[in-house]
Amino acid sequence: MPAVAKLFEDQPDEPKAPCGGNGGGASDGKDPDVGAGKAVVPAPGDRVVGLAVNANLWRSFDYLWPAWLPAPALGQRVRAAFGRGNRKTLAFVVDLARRPGTHELKAVSEVLDPQPQFDDVLWRLGQWISGYYLTPPGMSLAAMIPSAVGRHAAKCEAVAQLQSHHADWPQALGARQKRVLDELYEARAQGVEPVSVEALMRASGCSRDSIQRLARRKLIRVENRPVELPELTDAAEADPFELNADQQAAMSALSAKIDAGGFSVTLLHGVTGSGKTEVYIRAIRQVIAASRQAILMVPEIALATQTLQRLLRRLPRVAVLHSGLSNAQRAFYYQQIRDGDAAVVVGPRSAVFAPTRKLGLIIVDEEHESSYKQDTAPPYHGRDTAVKRAQLADVPIVLGSATPSLESMHNVAAGRYDLLSLPIRVKGLPMPKLQIVHLRKELTPGKVELIGATLTHRLAEVLGRGEQAILLMNRRGYASYVFCPSCKWMYECEHCSRPMIFHQATHMCMCHYCQATSALPEPCPACSGKLLLFGLGIQRTEAELVRKFPQAKLARMDSDTMTTPGQFRKVFDAFGAGELDILLGTQMVGKGLDFPRVSLVGIISADTSLIIPDFRASERTFQLIVQVAGRAGRAEMPGQVVVQTLHGDEPAIQFATTHDYKGFAAWELPLRKDAGLPPYARLVRFVVRHENMDRASAAANALAVALRPHLPPEVVFWGPDPAAIKRIRNKFRFQILLISPRPGVIQAALAGRMERIVHDIPAEVLADADPVSLA
Ligand code: ADP
Ligand code: ZN
Ligand code: ZN
Repeated sequence: MPAVAKLFEDQPDEPKAPCGGNGGGASDGKDPDVGAGKAVVPAPGDRVVGLAVNANLWRSFDYLWPAWLPAPALGQRVRAAFGRGNRKTLAFVVDLARRPGTHELKAVSEVLDPQPQFDDVLWRLGQWISGYYLTPPGMSLAAMIPSAVGRHAAKCEAVAQLQSHHADWPQALGARQKRVLDELYEARAQGVEPVSVEALMRASGCSRDSIQRLARRKLIRVENRPVELPELTDAAEADPFELNADQQAAMSALSAKIDAGGFSVTLLHGVTGSGKTEVYIRAIRQVIAASRQAILMVPEIALATQTLQRLLRRLPRVAVLHSGLSNAQRAFYYQQIRDGDAAVVVGPRSAVFAPTRKLGLIIVDEEHESSYKQDTAPPYHGRDTAVKRAQLADVPIVLGSATPSLESMHNVAAGRYDLLSLPIRVKGLPMPKLQIVHLRKELTPGKVELIGATLTHRLAEVLGRGEQAILLMNRRGYASYVFCPSCKWMYECEHCSRPMIFHQATHMCMCHYCQATSALPEPCPACSGKLLLFGLGIQRTEAELVRKFPQAKLARMDSDTMTTPGQFRKVFDAFGAGELDILLGTQMVGKGLDFPRVSLVGIISADTSLIIPDFRASERTFQLIVQVAGRAGRAEMPGQVVVQTLHGDEPAIQFATTHDYKGFAAWELPLRKDAGLPPYARLVRFVVRHENMDRASAAANALAVALRPHLPPEVVFWGPDPAAIKRIRNKFRFQILLISPRPGVIQAALAGRMERIVHDIPAEVLADADPVSLA
């Protein structure tokens, strides 16, 4: 199978363990004699450059720049033999002329970009990310460019399809390989074969090699086919309606900023269904008319299919950077963006790095979403990085949300951001009505049910009228309430009267407000009955729905059932076409959906997000309820929302039921202020990981010792403590939390010294600035 063999020569970069091997495929500009890792002493006149390697290392390294290569440029991507194994590693030229010393140096083996991929703004943005998120420069820069970009304008891509029957699959396959077969099986069932090998790799976590092994065993067939490049279309529908007065006011304010140019941040606070997207579209149109490009960031592109379809209809030359793109397609789009052919870039957080040639505007939709934060290094926040980019590029940026983050509101209060409001829904539609239901009162004694009497009743009504319902069950894997099904006693903290949460991992109960811990009470202190750990799972909800409404057509949407963007679209299409009655999902269903026939939204347990061990738990809960409630009543049918809760006195839930953002902010902000927490302070978190608990703990202590002397007295130091999730993937985790009343203080103290600080720490050290999760 020569075709197959060729496909696998081109391995993608793994961010942390760059692949290399000795040579391999033919590559342009590569001298066969160099790059094997042989070090030589530079001769006089030899050029020596500094490289930032894509690895968890702060310092840059001297390398010979072979004379046969064209002169180096700052920011150029290269490959160079690195470390003892001389693995060919991705690196960036960060210094053009180092003084050649007397010790031996290895040579750069390959230049990946004839021209650097970074313009001046992106280059400086990369430096900012490294300094602000305390991540080594090479890793920070590497995150800004998809590995396929600029490498090869591949004309062909590898695609796979099943070549075996389910019954013939061998038992002894790895979990990931099984996943590949399952994916292909599913694709066949859906009639979307063949599947791009790259998409399979992403969905299954399988390497190319193991996919190739499946092909050799004749379980699947892999072949090359011409890449289907996406097309940029010029068509753009005219505006279907006039903006209402609020939209017009917002638009004229934005319009003035776009005209004037220059950096400004505008927070567009518009209730759900107030027509924010419509304002984005018209603002972008103005940018295009001025021959500039716009970037529109959305939290999760798979969930934005409805918005996307609308944008593609209404705006010309839109490049959509979704995760389903093949390398070749992504590289193609990058070229279009760089050339200025793409007028609009839509994408998730990484779209902040889109190499636009003449940026005119950035918009960050749903700016409060925590999915804008990357959870691997560099742990950059897409919104904050976008604000920084806008500042460096000197262009306006708009942050939009129905439930702005308290950080952004605080920035408005401090005069740094301008506020525009869309306080009412378009077309005079009312806000949906929310009803709080105390689940404990509705449960039949001795029975564990997740859907109480009120919600059951409302669902029956809605289904009877042929309308649709969205149900939210925010899954929570690791923690539960402690609850007595016989007498309805609930375990609450004696200090806080907040629920004590049982943690599977530690087998202890914990109050997430005061951190008090205790053992699990057993039996029930009130009636000596057997206590129940009330862990609410989405599967359990599904089973109960099927039992209660056997005729209803139901789809479940969570990360187990939705693994590819195509699956989302299928469910959304079916729901939009009325082929489904109930959409049950995790917080995925709370995001931006606009279905006119949805007249009921049910929140199975509003408390689930209060349980996360995080000072933002209330904020998250408020946002989630308001957002998911906003899916109801978006057309003529009035919307109702049933909010079930085990602990209904939570202020976050109370404020959410009246859509009272101002009330919530006024209640929550003073608490944050008193506690010295964001937005009144900035956090930097260090996590130290090691497989051995004592080593991890000792390393965390050593890091604390190394950090302290560099920190000014205003920085509060917490820890080291075991992290809330003590062990992930067999690594024990300890954390140090630094709190500073002023932004940038910690970074200023540490950024230039990270190399020295982490040098002797005998464990992995991960830094994070402005963490969104403290788990
Ligand atoms: P948001 O982004 O705030 O949730 P959208 O922009 O999606 O709101 O608008 C909600 C719905 O109302 C969409 O179907 C949109 O087409 C429609 N819409 C928006 N603005 C207007 C308007 N001025 N007049 C009539 N319909 C509008
Ligand atoms: Zn407590
Ligand atoms: Zn009891």
